[in-house]
Formats: sequence, C-alpha cells, structure tokens
Amino acid sequence: MADQKRDYYEVLGVDKNADDAAIKKAYRVLAKKYHPDMNPGDKNAEAKFKEASEAYAVLSDPDKRRQYDQFGHAAFDGPGGGAGGFDFNSADFGDIFGDIFGDFFGGGARSRANHNGPMKGANLRTSVRISFEEAVFGCEKEIELTLKDPCRTCNGTGAKPGTSPVTCSKCGGKGQVVFTQQSLFGTVRNVQTCPDCGGTGKVIKDKCPDCHGTGYIASRKKLSVTIPAGIDNGQMVRLREKGEPGRNGGPRGDLLVEAVVSRHPIFQRQDYNIYSTAPISYAQAALGGDVLIDTVDGKVVYTVKPGTQTDSKIRLKGKGVPSLQNKDVRGDHYVTLVVQVPTGLTSSAKDLLRQFDSLTGDSLHEVEKKTGTGDNKDKKKKKKGLF
Ligand SMILES: [Zn+2]
Ligand SMILES: [Zn+2]
Repeated sequence: MADQKRDYYEVLGVDKNADDAAIKKAYRVLAKKYHPDMNPGDKNAEAKFKEASEAYAVLSDPDKRRQYDQFGHAAFDGPGGGAGGFDFNSADFGDIFGDIFGDFFGGGARSRANHNGPMKGANLRTSVRISFEEAVFGCEKEIELTLKDPCRTCNGTGAKPGTSPVTCSKCGGKGQVVFTQQSLFGTVRNVQTCPDCGGTGKVIKDKCPDCHGTGYIASRKKLSVTIPAGIDNGQMVRLREKGEPGRNGGPRGDLLVEAVVSRHPIFQRQDYNIYSTAPISYAQAALGGDVLIDTVDGKVVYTVKPGTQTDSKIRLKGKGVPSLQNKDVRGDHYVTLVVQVPTGLTSSAKDLLRQFDSLTGDSLHEVEKKTGTGDNKDKKKKKKGLF
C-alpha cells in the first residue's frame, strides 16, 4: 500500500527544502485546480484533490513533516503502524478550506454570483388614488412613502464610525459554509448560508448607533410620479431604482405604483371606450335638435335626429380614452340617450299635451276608455270644468 503512494513533495511539486509558504502556495494551486466544485463528477480530479490534500496535511504540520522525512509513508501506515499512526480526521482542514474558499470567493468575477456580490434591492409597491379624468389624460402625482437610504453615519456599512465590518471568520467572507462529510476526503458536501454573517461575508463588531447596524435609515419621502394618459385602474407605473437599496454596491430595486382610479359620477370605462347616459327632452326626441352631452373633453353639441327613441345609442368618435401606447389614438364615447318624461307640468303645459295627445290619436286613448282608471276620471273632471 505504501509503495503505491507518490512522494508528498512530488505530489505538491515542491522541493524537499520548501518552506511553509511555498507548500501552502503549491497546495492552493492544486486544490483550486482539482477541487470537486470545479470538476463535478470527475473521479480523476477527485483523486488528485485527495492526494494533494493528504500531502498538504502532512507537510504543513512540522511534526508530521519530520516523521515523513524520516520514515516516509511508513510513518502513517494505519493505526498503530509506524512511528505515529496518523489519523486524517484529526487534521484541521477547516482552516485550510476556509483559506482556500476565501481565496476562491474573495474577489473577482466569481464573487458576483455569490451571496456577497452586488445585489439589486427588492422592489417596493405602493398605490396612488387618481380621478377618472387624471387617468384619461395623465397627471403628475406626489406620493409619500417610507424609503430606506444608506445610513450617512456609517456610509451604509452598519459599523460604528471609526470601525469597519470585518471578514466573517466562520465563512472566510464567502457568505456560505461548506460542510464536508467524509471518511477521508469524501465528496458529500452541504452548502449553507453562513449563520454568523447571514450570507453577507462580513461581521459587524461595533454597531453604528444611528442605524443599529442595519446600514440603512428609513424615512418618509415624497416622490413625484408621472401617470401616463390612458392608465386604467390597477395598472402600474414603474419608478426605476426607487425601491429598496441594493447590497454591496448593487442598484436599488424599483418602486411599482398602482393606479387606483376613482369612480366617476357619469362616465364608465371599458378598455379605451367611455360609456355614459344623457337625458334628452321629449320634444328633442320627437322633433330632433341640438343637445349638449358631457364628455371628458367638456360639453359637445350633438344633433339628435327627429323621432329618436329612448335608449338609443350614439357614438362620439375619438372622445374616449387615449391609448397608453399613443395618446393621439383615442377610443370612443358611447352615449345612451334617455328620453325624459316631463313631470311637474303647469296647467297650460298639460293642456297643450292633451291637445297634442288628441291630435296624434295614438293607442293610449283606446286603453284609457276601456279601463277607466282614476287618472281618467280626473281627466274627465277637468275636461268638464274646462268645456
Ligand atoms: Zn449607520
Ligand atoms: Zn460568515
């Protein structure tokens, strides 16, 4: 068994007289190259990694190195064998791996993919109430909300002025802890967010008194929101980079402002069209003529055709809601004309209506004569008095 093993110095590629720094450097190069993380599923790399790790475990320890120099591999041949009975499980690999991972993840492009790289802040949501007309034509609105900003006292570090966050010793600054379960140098690995630093890779020893170590100060802020013409109830306006602050130099998240459109007493909306009803008089309906109709652009004159029936629908082209994509393109306004039956008539108006009624001689007369309602009696009385 011992014969099959390569010389530890040869494995690491160092001289017999290499100092500790040279051994560490050599191992770091090999560990990076052959680490199972970098070579998933590669058995050869895994074997090389184990071999290099074993060589380093021995040569980095002055006592073990001396034994190795004296007895070779025989020094560690199994329990009770040779001069020492070397048990790899007792070797302190935690420090070595922390060291290597710190080097792996401490800087450069790789750190960006990790927990402690620049991260965009979370998006925030709020709402703003606007009137029907404001939704149609767009508006500027001021909103007030609580926003976090980097603490000025500590420049967002969370550390008391004069101190600074230190690299987390548990995870070596990478924000994750790797647990390697192994019989020797096995490959069963668990990666967890570091419990000491919560994944930031930094630990604050003395907390900033102003932000209590969070690095942020929350305050009420007023922001101006441009609501585009044509927005509908429930639609969002995105304010870029007005959300939560980013981490480690990452950009802020966005602020999403939902439009809550108030109901209008007259107008209703469906997509880009507006719907309303408009009253017209009995005479206007019968004779035709110009009527004034309320639209979002103000009153417009519409010429009613003679003989217009109640619940007739008309279309006011281009009087609807502007399109969000192009505010010059507008929907239509559909108006239901409702003929008003006159009430509270003066006696002369009533007389004229009766004359009108008898002149037109429509079917209602027939019904009156047949049923003889109270109304008819009243009418008859009045007729008696008159004639
Ligand atoms: Zn602070
Ligand atoms: Zn940590």
